[in-house]
Amino acid sequence: MTTHVIGAGLAGLAAALAVRGPVVVHEAAVVAGGRARALPDGTDNGTHALLGANRVALDFLRDVGALEHWVEPEPEGLPVLDLADGRARRMALSPLGWLRAAKRPDGLTARALAALMRLAGPGDRAVGPALAEHPAFLRGFVEPLVIAALNTPVAEASSRRLAAVLRRVGTPGAARLLVARRGLGPDLVEPALAALRSRGGTVRHNARLRALRIEHHRLTALDFGDELVVLGEGDRVILALPPWEAARLVPGLRVPAEHAPILNLHFTHAAPGPVRFLGVLGGLCQWVLVRPGAIAVTVSAADAEAQEATADLAPRAWSEIRALARAFALPGEWPEAPPPCRAIKERRATPRHRPGDPPPPPILALPNLALAGDWMEPVLPATIDAAIRAGRRAARALG
Ligand SMILES: Cc1cc2nc3c(=O)[nH]c(=O)nc-3n(C[C@H](O)[C@H](O)[C@H](O)COP(=O)(O)OP(=O)(O)OC[C@H]3O[C@@H](n4cnc5c(N)ncnc54)[C@H](O)[C@@H]3O)c2cc1C
Repeated sequence: MTTHVIGAGLAGLAAALAVRGPVVVHEAAVVAGGRARALPDGTDNGTHALLGANRVALDFLRDVGALEHWVEPEPEGLPVLDLADGRARRMALSPLGWLRAAKRPDGLTARALAALMRLAGPGDRAVGPALAEHPAFLRGFVEPLVIAALNTPVAEASSRRLAAVLRRVGTPGAARLLVARRGLGPDLVEPALAALRSRGGTVRHNARLRALRIEHHRLTALDFGDELVVLGEGDRVILALPPWEAARLVPGLRVPAEHAPILNLHFTHAAPGPVRFLGVLGGLCQWVLVRPGAIAVTVSAADAEAQEATADLAPRAWSEIRALARAFALPGEWPEAPPPCRAIKERRATPRHRPGDPPPPPILALPNLALAGDWMEPVLPATIDAAIRAGRRAARALG
């Protein structure tokens, strides 16, 4: 009884690690990791952060022996530079941290907080208009959080998904922000692959599933173009694919149709000192990850920015990074001229999370076919945590 997992993103790897018995992962690309992968030169496709609230993702890291590689760069609160007035401060992400006035976001009043709490009530509406009466709080806290967590512009983002995030960051330790110390390759994907191999699983690369053969309401074969894998009586399949691929393969499947891009700018720059993670308000950069040999800028919900040329983006981002370096006394040299920069534009980074999105389809598409992927999460936004939850759920659903 073999389980075939299609897709070696995090949903697929989590599913493969959760099933009992022989497992084969079929992956279209030459590398595993999907939307959270290392590029051939070792650079991450984009900065990935986890929160203490992402319990399932942290459990996965622990399971594959990689948890110790994820570090908390800013335990004292997130350093944020507001380019509008040049103020540099540390801000707590969790309401528990707001007990200290210095770490409160701008515009945090009792009325603004009450308006935010109301979003956690029944119904689903766009976050931006619901908080329009609290522009300082919206700009200084809610918008950066929504863009980072939901990858959706605040004007159209779902209050229901935001409320699910807020409920989870309110407990002690849940707002701790973690990043991979070296990168997604050595600190996430490679340990997961090693764990899978050690448990007898295999991964086939360059194996793009072209079509499913379905007979009498059962999946009977997997068509990889150059090879047909005929399924035995007890064989099962987990499709751990992005929504557009799942919809291509499974007739009539309803999936999220609209996605939002994430732009990452990778500067080659030797910055001494520990890993840092800093925020910018009112600029091009949203978050800046400083690792010893490289600096990565994240721009989520980057509808406009993803259309711009790297030659235009790099000098703007670099001048903001220099301002951050001055404001927070980052060690090292920060010359005026931007160092070499490479832009990675993930055009379909995640689904757009809007109010009233239809719920995901049932996990079992057929008795021997389960669906996984970050988009299968009914409550939380599409993230690593959601992908791993979905992968594990699909494995459980097949028994
Ligand atoms: C730039 C960027 C930054 C992000 N930042 C964060 C963050 O900070 N924190 C966070 O938690 N999440 C973040 N995310 C989201 C996170 O990366 C995704 O939610 C998660 O990786 C999705 O995993 P998945 O397994 O569901 O899908 P995918 O990663 O898309 O995996 C699907 C896999 O299936 C393969 N495949 C596709 N078609 C076929 C086929 N026909 N046959 C075989 N294989 C196929 C693909 O090659 C891929 O490997 C970010 C995403 C991006 C792009």
